[in-house]
Amino acid sequence: MDDVARVRPSDLPQLDRCRRRFVRTVTGSGLTHGPSTHSRRRFALANAVVDAARRAHAQAESEGVAPSEILDDTAPPRDLEAEERAVFDDAMAGYGDVADARGGRPVDPAPDAFPARTSRSGRFKLSVTIDVALVVDGITEVRRLAFGPSPHGRLADDPRARLTALVCGGTEPLRYVHVDVLRASASVVDTDAEERRRWGDELGPRIISALDEPEPAATPGPWCSSCPAVRGCPAIGASDLASPLSSAERGGPGTGERPGTDEAPGASESPTTGGSRGAAGMGG
Ligand code: SF4
Repeated sequence: MDDVARVRPSDLPQLDRCRRRFVRTVTGSGLTHGPSTHSRRRFALANAVVDAARRAHAQAESEGVAPSEILDDTAPPRDLEAEERAVFDDAMAGYGDVADARGGRPVDPAPDAFPARTSRSGRFKLSVTIDVALVVDGITEVRRLAFGPSPHGRLADDPRARLTALVCGGTEPLRYVHVDVLRASASVVDTDAEERRRWGDELGPRIISALDEPEPAATPGPWCSSCPAVRGCPAIGASDLASPLSSAERGGPGTGERPGTDEAPGASESPTTGGSRGAAGMGG
């Protein structure tokens, strides 16, 4: 295992699906592929949107103007393709509306409130990306900028919301906001220290249990189609390796799951807490 395993929001669903994939992904052990070309394109677009949002908040704060005034004048990076540039412009307009309506003063991401923990086989940390952090009416608000709504019915059940709250929350109230930049909408969940303690008490032992398994169980399913740990998997035969989608197709409907090395279809390196820098937002 690496010195410190990184558990990202996109890893958590694998705890309930396939522990072998979960362990291999968070430890970086024996992975065969990284993000797809499609994912890399989305990362570039998402990076551009998040970077523009951060710059707009900083400039708006120093000049005393609304963030939308900055965002409206922000041109897309030249390395984006035509279709991506159109999405970028829509995102600037959508996030501008949300940013103006919510207000707030930009701040640096909060210090890590969920330090590395130790299992028998090593140490792990929760690793989340902070797209934008502000203080709004005295409460720290961490915003996720996404190209769609949260895929979870209740935002409090979104793994990204929980991990972000655990990493950034400390003892103070923390507000997590999922911003759909294309619809100019915001979903909000407020968390307090007691709720985060319960989340941490529930999640930590599950992660430790998986990491400490001598041979984490390989459980095939639709998620195999995107598994970066497929090589050598005892649940997948040689014929499956020759046709990697065959197991997934037998296991059920397609998934659209990303490779485990993708934190999300979002930006590349950007400020995070939780001990690493990972892909930024826009993943939904
Ligand atoms: S190929 Fe499927 S069963 Fe094997 S580790 Fe990956 S997700 Fe699990």
